[in-house]
Amino acid sequence: MPGILHLKNLYVPTLKEDPADADIASHKLLLRAGMLRKTASGVYTFLPLGFRVLKKIEEIVREEMDATGAYEIMMPALQPSELWLESGRWDDYGPELMRLSDRHERGFCLGPTHEELITSLVRDELRSYKQLPLTLYQIQVKFRDEIRPRFGLLRSREFIMKDAYSFHDSQASLQETYDAMSDAYGRICDRCALEWRAVEADSGQIGGKVTTEFMALAESGEAELVYCDCGYSANTEAGECIPHPTAHDVAELKKVSTPGIHTIEELAEFLGIPETSTVKALSGKDADGGLVVLFVPGSHELNEIKACRAVEGFELLSDDEMEAFGLHKGSMGPVGLPDGARVIADASLKGVPHWVVGANEEGAHYLGAAPGRDFTVDGWADLCVVKPGDSCPECGCSLKGARGIEVSQVFQLGTKYSESMRATYLDKDGKEKPFIMGCYGVGVSRTLAAIVEQHNDADGIKWPLAVAPAHVCVIPLVVGDDVVHPKAEEIARACQQMGFEVAIDDRDERAGVKFADADLIGWPLQIIVGKRGLAEGKVELKRRRTGERSEFLVDALPEMLAFANRKMMDMHKGGVTIFSGLFD
Ligand code: ATP
Ligand code: MG
Repeated sequence: MPGILHLKNLYVPTLKEDPADADIASHKLLLRAGMLRKTASGVYTFLPLGFRVLKKIEEIVREEMDATGAYEIMMPALQPSELWLESGRWDDYGPELMRLSDRHERGFCLGPTHEELITSLVRDELRSYKQLPLTLYQIQVKFRDEIRPRFGLLRSREFIMKDAYSFHDSQASLQETYDAMSDAYGRICDRCALEWRAVEADSGQIGGKVTTEFMALAESGEAELVYCDCGYSANTEAGECIPHPTAHDVAELKKVSTPGIHTIEELAEFLGIPETSTVKALSGKDADGGLVVLFVPGSHELNEIKACRAVEGFELLSDDEMEAFGLHKGSMGPVGLPDGARVIADASLKGVPHWVVGANEEGAHYLGAAPGRDFTVDGWADLCVVKPGDSCPECGCSLKGARGIEVSQVFQLGTKYSESMRATYLDKDGKEKPFIMGCYGVGVSRTLAAIVEQHNDADGIKWPLAVAPAHVCVIPLVVGDDVVHPKAEEIARACQQMGFEVAIDDRDERAGVKFADADLIGWPLQIIVGKRGLAEGKVELKRRRTGERSEFLVDALPEMLAFANRKMMDMHKGGVTIFSGLFD
């Protein structure tokens, strides 16, 4: 049984004021509640209470991973550069990879993720299809030299991740594990009391094609998502975009003077037409340095990830490069582009016979520029960032928007790593085949911050029961006396014996300070023990979640706690302990 947490000897340095460099609720509150301290930019120490919460989240993740049949291992954080050279990511990963060398000048990195290491681990000893499928996971510290570490634990440079990797001999087997992992990720979010959505995502650095992100909904989230009542949802980085450009009624090519007009907003206002009737041009270069001009409806933004998919190695031109190609920023168009320029347009513009678009001349635009007649389009592609109000690609209804914190992601990697790192097994016919792989990551420390983002108020954190640093805090209003303090210790022991995790605020502080700290730290239930109440045999209970306070006879406490405990255990058996009875 865990010991009672005595706040007097526990290191919980609470702060009255918001720290200056913390700008969102979770960052501020975790610092103020004495759970977390900054060591360097994006590097944090978990103090005793913060560490308890972290361990609880880890335990939920571990239980859910074990239930899928995955096995826990522990790989090193320090990884030799050779493995990353083999996969090609030593060069591709860029400055986010924390690199170092040992005393013999051998290259290493601090792992931002472990695909290379796990692939090298199994390639020599996982040999037969008979041993597949196999899923291994670890809960470990990761390092990423983020360009902008911010928001405390949400985007740090050293953080805790659960990462799992699976190996298969068929796509069907990968799909089965991927689905089981996705279900487990949903349960992890539920058990952490997160309001969440699973969204279509982009696979970024990791590679692979099929991938889903699990987003905790929060206004402070860095990710934008769109969703539909039919169940569809996507990260705006990845979601298919179906804009509805409108045709302008001028059908003949006609140059109009647009002095000083450089943005779509200005152009639409100047011409008195909706932005949807204008076409925006963006210039870039392909992998060989060739000029590529992309066209999207004026109402939408270019999605650079999609641009890279449509044009290999696509990069937007700098102002100097544009000038070198003779292009005019703010009045680019498809008519009269330099020789050899490739034109790629958003697929939605296929249905627009006449475009309102730049004339490649300062202060001039064209009305009625017709693809096929006035210029050639070399390719059509999905190029735009999807936004609320666009059509749902699955049912056609209007999409809604939300913001989210990516707490976890699942990927189907296919053979990306097994091929580049020559990790093979022998199939039924004795033929050598590369493993089909999946990988699955939960941001454990980010999840902790996401929980606080969703569960707080002006007074502090409101921990869901399943991850609270302890369930109950007993608050004696006097310490060191021979009535109140001993009674409070007795109540704390009784709670503990009932199976609750208990803290006691035995600091010699004023009642007001203890109340404020208890709300700030966010214990689900406070039991306040004072002289006046005890004279009538009573204590006060405060539920943090609702703020509701009520008086109880001390003698009735055991019965009430037993009831709450039974309810908690019942709920726990069901797999999801969020709030229960007394703690609601
Ligand atoms: P992001 O897009 O937010 O940078 P990512 O997609 O690069 O994250 P993954 O490679 O998918 O991250 O890593 C798995 C999980 O690790 C993420 O879902 C997230 O919860 C967590 N994570 C990633 N980067 C960080 C970070 N800098 N700080 C805290 N947690 C992180
Ligand atoms: Mg991710």
